[in-house]
Amino acid sequence: MRQADNHYNILIIGGGINGCGIARDAVGRGYSVCLCEENDLAGGTSSASTKLIHGGLRYLEHYEFRLVRESLMEREVIWKMAPHIVKPLRFVLPHHKGLRPKWLLRLGLFLYDYIGGRKLLPASTSVDLRSDEVGKPLKPEFETAFEYSDCWVDDSRLVIMNAMDAAERGADIRTHTKVLSARYEDGKWQVTIAKAGKSKPKTITADLIVNAAGPWVDEVLRNVFGMNNIDNVRLVRGSHIVIKKKFQHDKCYIFQNADDRIVFAIPYEDEYTLIGTTDAEHSLEDGKPKISREETKYLCKLASDYFKEPVLESDIVWAYSGVRPLYNDGASAAQEATRDYVLVKDGSQPLINIFGGKITTYRKLAESMMVDIASVIKECGAPWTKETHLPGGDFAVNGLEQEATKLKSKYPFLETEHAARLVRTYGTCATTMLGEAAEVADLGTCFGGDLYQLEVEYLKKYEWARSAEDVLFRRTKLGIKFTKKQTTKLAKLFG
Ligand SMILES: Cc1cc2nc3c(=O)[nH]c(=O)nc-3n(C[C@H](O)[C@H](O)[C@H](O)COP(=O)(O)OP(=O)(O)OC[C@H]3O[C@@H](n4cnc5c(N)ncnc54)[C@H](O)[C@@H]3O)c2cc1C
Repeated sequence: MRQADNHYNILIIGGGINGCGIARDAVGRGYSVCLCEENDLAGGTSSASTKLIHGGLRYLEHYEFRLVRESLMEREVIWKMAPHIVKPLRFVLPHHKGLRPKWLLRLGLFLYDYIGGRKLLPASTSVDLRSDEVGKPLKPEFETAFEYSDCWVDDSRLVIMNAMDAAERGADIRTHTKVLSARYEDGKWQVTIAKAGKSKPKTITADLIVNAAGPWVDEVLRNVFGMNNIDNVRLVRGSHIVIKKKFQHDKCYIFQNADDRIVFAIPYEDEYTLIGTTDAEHSLEDGKPKISREETKYLCKLASDYFKEPVLESDIVWAYSGVRPLYNDGASAAQEATRDYVLVKDGSQPLINIFGGKITTYRKLAESMMVDIASVIKECGAPWTKETHLPGGDFAVNGLEQEATKLKSKYPFLETEHAARLVRTYGTCATTMLGEAAEVADLGTCFGGDLYQLEVEYLKKYEWARSAEDVLFRRTKLGIKFTKKQTTKLAKLFG
């Protein structure tokens, strides 16, 4: 799709979920597309989320009906597009006597059930915590709860699946490539980009630029476009802690707090429970986001208010943080700022900025972006992403077990758990990765657990993996189980 002279219709700055979703949609419509990501794909906020494809029950309290409806509708769309990395999840919302009354919870869930075009996900129900197994880990004062459905997603893989599909359709995906400056001259953008490790920056040209730099969107406006007085997004850090499995069932809890916030406790990678998140004001000058002492205490305390067995700081095996680029709508409290996205066209030049957004709405955001792009440069193609699988997702929803059985019968030397993990990660692309392998020895060096060289080579070749961290934390979620020694062994493969 790239024209001979390094010219593209669209240059996208940022390889998070929004940049990659737009690249996929745009190239599928016939635009020529180049995406530049300064670090690794999903290296920003898009790998640090709570990993939910959800309507956001709490946003109903802020009357964000458009956002909730659009998000609810997207749950089943994205599940069908990528049934390997998306799964339905039941949420248990205990009634807390001092907080929201039961009638309000029922009303919220009634809306949640009926405004979002739910077809496959089960409706909400009430639960007697005194007799149901989901009540067992909770303190006895919690007697009733409500259960409802949303979906879980492997966030960073969703980004990478979009980038892979975009690349297969002809987009030029450049990782470790920073956009340094952009100047609009004689009807096109002159853009200077620098590839990590290369001494000389390069110039490419584009008809239009999409600024999808997430938390860095304002920084890009200042540093790349040389604009002043920029204050479009509010940066709010959210942190999660991971502890050893706190309960045996596969449902998730949503706990209310007296400060009006909610916190999730979600089963994570079979052996763990993920607890989060927080809302803390953040500045890019603070560097890579990290959980603070206050956030750690807050999450432990809130979870301990509900669980019989308290959550102690010493239980934490891992923590991660990300920064929400929330549209600066003037709300006073961080949790009240809108989670909706806003696309803003620059008045004088072909530049479109993205402020805010959620993983859940990335596909709809990309569709809205296409309307704006068509109005600025030229119209190209029609909406197409709703019914098209992401790489590896071409099987039925709820078909994971069947796919794992099929993979195991084709590659009988795989352990059952290994086959299941490969299907959960790669879907039907697991066979591309395994190729002609006929015995364990064909998988090459084992780096730890069931991660072998063949898989790592596949990730290097098809998924832009450049380091042990890319493999362990964004292409797979094996990092949490890896020892230092195993990580070092893997890192050596990357030099
Ligand atoms: C704690 C937390 C929990 C969340 N939970 C959920 C959830 O459960 N469900 C949900 O739907 N949403 C959730 N979100 C929101 C969601 O994660 C974000 O809205 C989304 O990931 C933002 O994606 P993005 O592509 O806009 O930004 P990012 O993923 O941050 O991508 C921007 C990219 O731009 C790159 N970049 C910046 N400057 C340059 C440059 N000059 N040149 C090249 N590249 C550049 C960066 O390196 C970065 O990778 C959560 C967010 C947080 C923080």
